[in-house]
Amino acid sequence: MKLVLFDEYRLGILSDAGVTDVTNALPNHQPHSAASFWVELCRDFAQMRPKLEREATGKTAVPLEQVKLRPPVLNPSKVLAAASNYGEHVQEMRPRLSQDWLLDFGVFLKAPSAIIGPGQSISFPSVGDREVHHEAELAFVIGDVCNNVSEADAMRYVLGYTCLIDVTIRGDGDRSFRKSFDGFCPVGPCLVTADEIGDPHNLGIKLWVNEDLRQDGNSRDMLVNIPQMIAYASRAMTLYPGDLFTTGTPDGVGTFAAGDTITIEVEKIGRMQISVV
Ligand code: MN
Repeated sequence: MKLVLFDEYRLGILSDAGVTDVTNALPNHQPHSAASFWVELCRDFAQMRPKLEREATGKTAVPLEQVKLRPPVLNPSKVLAAASNYGEHVQEMRPRLSQDWLLDFGVFLKAPSAIIGPGQSISFPSVGDREVHHEAELAFVIGDVCNNVSEADAMRYVLGYTCLIDVTIRGDGDRSFRKSFDGFCPVGPCLVTADEIGDPHNLGIKLWVNEDLRQDGNSRDMLVNIPQMIAYASRAMTLYPGDLFTTGTPDGVGTFAAGDTITIEVEKIGRMQISVV
């Protein structure tokens, strides 16, 4: 099932025909305290799914161009991000980094306030001569409270997958600050439930700046796979329903500027476009 949030944080199922509004199946939809219904949906999805399917039955989908898609995540308690998780990307960064530890796998946090959705724009920050880079990534959303889980059990906590651009200011300073400017976390266009993805470690990941294909990788090349990163992170901190975890970027990262359009595409998920102003 492909879930979307749209307009005033209504819940929809995305199909080739467009968006079918299933908001009425939610027991607790409150657009003005939007996070609670989304967190409950993430937690209770297995029980909610048949209700959503029933609600969609017989309803006409609204064409995609007639709705305003929102990011398919809502006020997650945290955005976790894997660093240095593709060998070719580590190699391209090696000459630029003064500290070797930055080339090792790690998990850092991005501010949830940086999240934007499809069709929104990044306001290019004034950063002097420092470069701002795109990082095209496969991300996943947590479906249940998860603490100190084993690799063997980890995948049952994954609700679904989406596309994420980990926008980054290069250079010195803490990652969490350099990667948390407003707009630095585009997410979308939809959340595809795990059953529809199958093996998440075999998905093409592409990113274009305007017409120029900059990144063309595959999630099979992750150095630390998804169960390993859930086990690693959940040893330190409890993961909650609705938390977002992004899995690191393949090589091909690079600069962009105001006026550019950035497009990310992950196989089986879809494509999202962001403008830079
Ligand atoms: Mn990244």
